[in-house]
Amino acid sequence: MSDHTRDTLERIEEPLKKCVKCGTCRANCPAFTAFQREPATARGKLTLVQHLLKDDIDLDDQTYLAMSKCLLCGSCVDKCPNDVPTDEIVIAAREALAQKRGLTTFHAAVGQVIQSRTRMKLGAKAAQILGPLLFRKVPENSGLRLRFPLPFVGNKRYIPAIAKTPLMARYPEVLEGQPGRPRIVFFVGCMTNFVYPRVGVATIKLFQHLGCTIIIPRDQQCCGLPAMSGGDSATVRHLAERNLAVLERYEADYVMSACATCGGALHRLYPLVVGKRNPELKERLERLAARTVDAAQLLHQLGLTPAETGAGTSGRVTYHDPCHLRTRKITAQPRDLIQATPGLELVEMEGADRCCGLGGTFNVYHYGSSLTINDAKSEAIIATGAAAVATGCPGCMMMLDDGLKQHGAEVEVVHTMELLARRLLAG
Ligand code: SF4
Ligand code: SF4
Repeated sequence: MSDHTRDTLERIEEPLKKCVKCGTCRANCPAFTAFQREPATARGKLTLVQHLLKDDIDLDDQTYLAMSKCLLCGSCVDKCPNDVPTDEIVIAAREALAQKRGLTTFHAAVGQVIQSRTRMKLGAKAAQILGPLLFRKVPENSGLRLRFPLPFVGNKRYIPAIAKTPLMARYPEVLEGQPGRPRIVFFVGCMTNFVYPRVGVATIKLFQHLGCTIIIPRDQQCCGLPAMSGGDSATVRHLAERNLAVLERYEADYVMSACATCGGALHRLYPLVVGKRNPELKERLERLAARTVDAAQLLHQLGLTPAETGAGTSGRVTYHDPCHLRTRKITAQPRDLIQATPGLELVEMEGADRCCGLGGTFNVYHYGSSLTINDAKSEAIIATGAAAVATGCPGCMMMLDDGLKQHGAEVEVVHTMELLARRLLAG
């Protein structure tokens, strides 16, 4: 084991010692649901990392496979009586594996694409052009299914189409609001920009309705979460530094995201993963984290009053907690907002706080297991009889939509911002 790899693992030596092997984490671990084996649980992974530190086992294929069986959902962290940061430990172990073995082809390609806005735009354009050749439209709605299997994609899953015009191409950089009202820097995120711009449009409309100034920095980058889940620490650090420089540039009251994953990166993972090893960045990253808010959290805080009742989904709606909002304790605010909206009735599903099964690149390497985890979620949504399921993360939207279609259910999947904008604002 190289010194660099040992340093990476030693970073988590102290928190590892806090695990008393009680197994409380197992009950809510989605990876255990899918694999039904102890090594897939938080306890199993922690034991493996302890052996790695003692040099009892090697950073080999088996270790790699074991460490890939984690959705970084944080459920074990929430439930652990000893506050063991398992997600942080798994991220460090993946980093050590990447240092020893190199990045997988998939993660190396992901790192190359997400480090460059130009490459992302070109990729989105290519996906749009090739779309009709590769995909067939699902008749009942706008989902797409591959005509034939592709590496890492298969042909079973339903994929949302890439938007014709990304969100950031639809707006100027600054949307001036009313004097004295909050100034918000909008961290858009790749999924909202390229796949679900309608989420960004709804978010902007709601905050404009409140008189806020919205700044959409042109040079914001991917948050880096896809690289983090593959152990690509160099790409994460690079993106964290670039985003930090961009987001620090503006005198704004808040940095806001409508994507739970991006918000989770800025709020928790940058200070945790990048800040810990870079004392000179730590303070700046912590200041950014303190200013970072989720769109539903901010809307709740500012107090949204309906201007008029619009059209859109009405009746029964259920809500799914994205892991990256749940771990930040943003659970009551979206529910309060939905409940306060005329024409909507919020019905709770069983296990609303359980992971949808996406888990970033887990969904790429273990798609069948993603669906197994999603089964309970889809069934719980269907059992509510709701016409729509709302959530606060575009990644969850994609997984929920896929899962519900696999079940043949016609439940609309919406972002909380869309649901509110459609009901509360005209036009
Ligand atoms: S991670 Fe926490 S909950 Fe899980 S076995 Fe260790 S101490 Fe118990
Ligand atoms: S982060 Fe989630 S998937 Fe990973 S070990 Fe913990 S509970 Fe299981």
